[in-house]
Amino acid sequence: QSQELSQVQIDYHAALQALVEEGTRMVCTGRMHTDRICRFESLCYSTEAEEFVFFHSNSSIMLPSLGSRRFQPALLDLSSVEDHNTQYFNFVELPVAALKFMPKPVFVPDVALIMNRFNPDNLMHVFHDDLIPIFYTMQQFPDLDLESRLFFMEGWNEGLHFDLYKALTNKQPLLKEQLKTLGRLLCFTKSYVGLSKITTWYQYGFVQPQGPKANILVSGNEIRQFTKFMMEKLNVTLEENFGEDYIVLFSRTINRLILNEAELILALAQEFQMKTITVSLEDHSFVDIIRLISNASMLVSMHGAQLVMSLFLPRGATVVELFPYAINPEHYTPYKTLATLPGMDLQYVAWQNAEEDNTVTYPDRHWDQGGITHLDKMEQERIMQSKEVPRHLCCRNPEWLFRVYQDTKVDISSLIQMIRQTVKSKPGSKKQKWVNGLYPGKVRDAKCQASVQGANEAKLSVSWQIPWNLKYLKVRDVKYEVWIQEQGENTYMPYILSYQNHTFSENIKPFATYLVWIRCIFNKNFLGPFADVLMCST
Ligand code: UDP
Repeated sequence: QSQELSQVQIDYHAALQALVEEGTRMVCTGRMHTDRICRFESLCYSTEAEEFVFFHSNSSIMLPSLGSRRFQPALLDLSSVEDHNTQYFNFVELPVAALKFMPKPVFVPDVALIMNRFNPDNLMHVFHDDLIPIFYTMQQFPDLDLESRLFFMEGWNEGLHFDLYKALTNKQPLLKEQLKTLGRLLCFTKSYVGLSKITTWYQYGFVQPQGPKANILVSGNEIRQFTKFMMEKLNVTLEENFGEDYIVLFSRTINRLILNEAELILALAQEFQMKTITVSLEDHSFVDIIRLISNASMLVSMHGAQLVMSLFLPRGATVVELFPYAINPEHYTPYKTLATLPGMDLQYVAWQNAEEDNTVTYPDRHWDQGGITHLDKMEQERIMQSKEVPRHLCCRNPEWLFRVYQDTKVDISSLIQMIRQTVKSKPGSKKQKWVNGLYPGKVRDAKCQASVQGANEAKLSVSWQIPWNLKYLKVRDVKYEVWIQEQGENTYMPYILSYQNHTFSENIKPFATYLVWIRCIFNKNFLGPFADVLMCST
């Protein structure tokens, strides 16, 4: 294993001297443990104590300097899941003098990104919590390039999808367990600790029932930049027979099954006049799945982690998510939120099994596969009678597990009807032009001129120039919004105008002062900033 690290040569004595003289140096971004990422020089890790070590010297830096607030509750989150108490990062402190009595340090020459994967066996978690956040954390810090190395500290083995993680940099990621084989005291020459949460769109329900994050900051553009990178790294070559439209049914083969899959495939093919193909994680390689999905017109699947693969769909495609009986689609929206991110340009359809006769339950299974026989009889009875799982917290709610692991016979006509309500013409029509929304700048040189007509009448003439960026753009529809507010009043009169000047006379009084706010709007939806407020006295 240790030859792994020797690809970059370092001068051992220089590295040791730097550690002894400079100690550990840390500078972080972020104001709270939940948005913090730290950059370290000479951060060490004791594989025996399983603790990170900060060595103090006269030249050490520790910013932020939190004192014991560093433990309230932690310096930072090591995974992208917000404030999860099993994912905290901290270090213990020692003076550099203690090195004399410690194992000889082994230096890690690669720039390191040190983090936790959250749930590496679940595909939704792999993409949402790990791969996309790692990719964008690397974009944030230029020395986290393709020659940097990932260190997964959560303690899992490689997991089912390690190949995906391996695509992120040119160096093999290392697991916590493997660090022991490298030495007793590891010192990372240069490292970043923590993951950016800026791209995550979903919270899993640890403190409140699951749902979209309150303040989503990612758009389809960034998702697609990520998928483009992954497809290049994984050598996904696009389908040759482009032009032919087809539907992909992403099937589960172990649980949460579609019981009439053959019938469903035939019905979809017939209804939409398209070839319909089935893929599953069990029967297809990732490269094949991505190749097929990235050119599909529609992706149909049971609710479940495999649906995260819709991030590889082309613009204009349709996602159809099927929910088992008693599972309200509105309450479980990781894939809906993804499909409807601004700029993802996917259509989304949720279908729920409304017929109890069409569901198959598994009360006798192990609890984590939805079994309920470990519960008392009354509770089992209540769950069996219930027609909808009430909102709940993650992750072991037995009623939720019981219902979400049901198999379903899909009612074909109600499903087709649902899809038809959303997809009016041909699904996935790639001909549609997707307007890439740009926003106007401020209007310029705004002026107003007042005239008093009499004791009760006055006019306000307002004019302005187009935003600076408009002269370089072709914009279909340019409008201006003007708000007129009498000074001291809480309300204002809004106007939408097509020209760059207007004379207002209704509700304009003589000898009053008005505040005039003006902004430009492109294509109805792209609202620009207001220019500095104008003060106009009549
Ligand atoms: N999985 C699968 N086929 C199955 C059942 C599960 O490929 O028949 C995958 C699933 O996509 C996910 C992982 O196994 O990546 C864990 O599935 P689980 O049912 O625990 O989670 P969920 O899909 O509900 O998020």
